[in-house]
Amino acid sequence: MAKETVEQWATRILLHAHAIKPCPDCGYMKLNFSFHGLDYAHALAQCDSYPRMSKAKCVEAVDAVFDSLGDECPACE
Ligand SMILES: [Zn+2]
Repeated sequence: MAKETVEQWATRILLHAHAIKPCPDCGYMKLNFSFHGLDYAHALAQCDSYPRMSKAKCVEAVDAVFDSLGDECPACE
């Protein structure tokens, strides 16, 4: 099994928390408006943390992926 990168891990956490969602047409990730999505993602990041990474770094990694995404799918515009 291929090792999951930090970005893949953070994307999985954000998807699980419904903080982001894939575009139904092309699969690009975009932000999902949910007031608690990011809070939930932070909580998940701390209990399902990336191997050998501190909880604080895990939360930062989740924020980095979240901040890199927009409200609109880049391929649909
Ligand atoms: Zn799209």
